[in-house]
Amino acid sequence: MVRVPVVRDILSANERVAQENRRLLESRRICAVNLMASPGAGKTSLILRTAGSLSGRLRCGVIEGDVASRVDADRVAAAGIPVVQINTGGACHLEAQMVGAALEELPLDQIDLLFIENIGNLICPVEFGLGEQARVLVSSIPEGDDKPHKYPAAFAAVDAVVLNKIDLAPYVSFDREAFHRLVRGMNAEAPLFPVSCATGEGLEAWAEWLVDLVARVREGA
Ligand code: MG
Ligand code: ZN
Repeated sequence: MVRVPVVRDILSANERVAQENRRLLESRRICAVNLMASPGAGKTSLILRTAGSLSGRLRCGVIEGDVASRVDADRVAAAGIPVVQINTGGACHLEAQMVGAALEELPLDQIDLLFIENIGNLICPVEFGLGEQARVLVSSIPEGDDKPHKYPAAFAAVDAVVLNKIDLAPYVSFDREAFHRLVRGMNAEAPLFPVSCATGEGLEAWAEWLVDLVARVREGA
């Protein structure tokens, strides 16, 4: 009986900071996308390819969440994209306070679209709002077509699903129709974007969705 209110306090503290982040982002006309995925789904590669596709249309920025290392942030920085690395030191999800601190380090006046790459994990990131305007789940062909079965809450909570590494389909047993059906079972609305960051296939439709998203957020702000 005692523990339930404590848990609620922790969650609402995160939500309060998330709302502060959202207000800051809206005041700067920035649209933030919280990218969630398993480790190795290709979040960083997707960010890099997408920023390239959007070049000349939207200016991207990145907050990289990892348990340790700045390997991903170095890749992003090498592409000339403003980036801040968060190392959680073991924690398995980002929290709003970490993102708030990262926002202070970014050149916000140079960013239209901010990717927040969450920790590779399909369980708890979904429980912690960061102040983002949209949530996207990145899945990939080698992970198998049963992921929505195993992580229904994550698939239900997102505004779009990206299915990455479709170039590997000839080498891996993956039923794309079954995957699509499962996603629809969890989430009636979220568009599904099959892409390959290796070949570039499908990236244009995904980039168009982001352009529309930014426009919608700006109209609402
Ligand atoms: Mg990464
Ligand atoms: Zn966690």
